[in-house]
Amino acid sequence: MKLISIIFFVATILIASNECDGLEHGSNYQIFPLRMKSGLGGHYIPDVSCQSWRLGVEAHNVINWKTVPQECETYIGNYMVGDQYRSDSKTVNREGYLYARTLNITNYDIWVFDVDETTLSNLPYYAQHGFGVEPYNETAFNAWVESGVAPPLPETLKLYNKLVSLGVKIVFITGRPQKQRDITAYNLKQAGYYKWEKLITKDTSIYGGKTAVTYKSSERKKLEEEGYRIIGNSGDQWSDILGTNTGLRTYKLPDPVYYIS
Ligand SMILES: [Mg+2]
Repeated sequence: MKLISIIFFVATILIASNECDGLEHGSNYQIFPLRMKSGLGGHYIPDVSCQSWRLGVEAHNVINWKTVPQECETYIGNYMVGDQYRSDSKTVNREGYLYARTLNITNYDIWVFDVDETTLSNLPYYAQHGFGVEPYNETAFNAWVESGVAPPLPETLKLYNKLVSLGVKIVFITGRPQKQRDITAYNLKQAGYYKWEKLITKDTSIYGGKTAVTYKSSERKKLEEEGYRIIGNSGDQWSDILGTNTGLRTYKLPDPVYYIS
């Protein structure tokens, strides 16, 4: 009986002290990341590092990168084919719809969409090419584009359909060159984007050697000069939404696979 009493007493103290540490003095795990990493104690955890890299990319702190870091191939691959990419895309597109429906839509209201990784997905291609770890291969990528079988990004297609229902006109501005205009139109229709006001492809005689920011700003300016009001502008690259004439609101879709300035 005495032994049981002692065990009970010790157990009570242990439980009480645990509660004290966890609840009254804050949780150690919240403070731990603020400690300086020193010497051998600063463990390198690949997944955490790659998450930070992806956040840096999406926040446009990490810029002008050529390829995904080699050690992040598995992390980026899992992100792209898993639920998180889909969920992130859904959040962005949903915000677009919630905004659009607050507006009184007129005949001159347009929504600008980029194409690659915004309305169409090249994920089947990138899954075969290291999810951005391999350097860009123009020949191989163009062959994929010419096949015209890129699937839609489902969450963007939902936004597209809702915008069309609201009476918003759709304008695509893509960095794809004019020679890929027909296959792009075909692919968009196959993917479910059945109508649009304009499909603007890049005239390389004007914009050859210019950045996407310059090209897309200039094309949006023309649209506004024609009398359109850009109520929303969606792209996976910061160069889709930076510059001038960016529209009433911009929407950045996730893309940790490649960077276009
Ligand atoms: Mg794009």
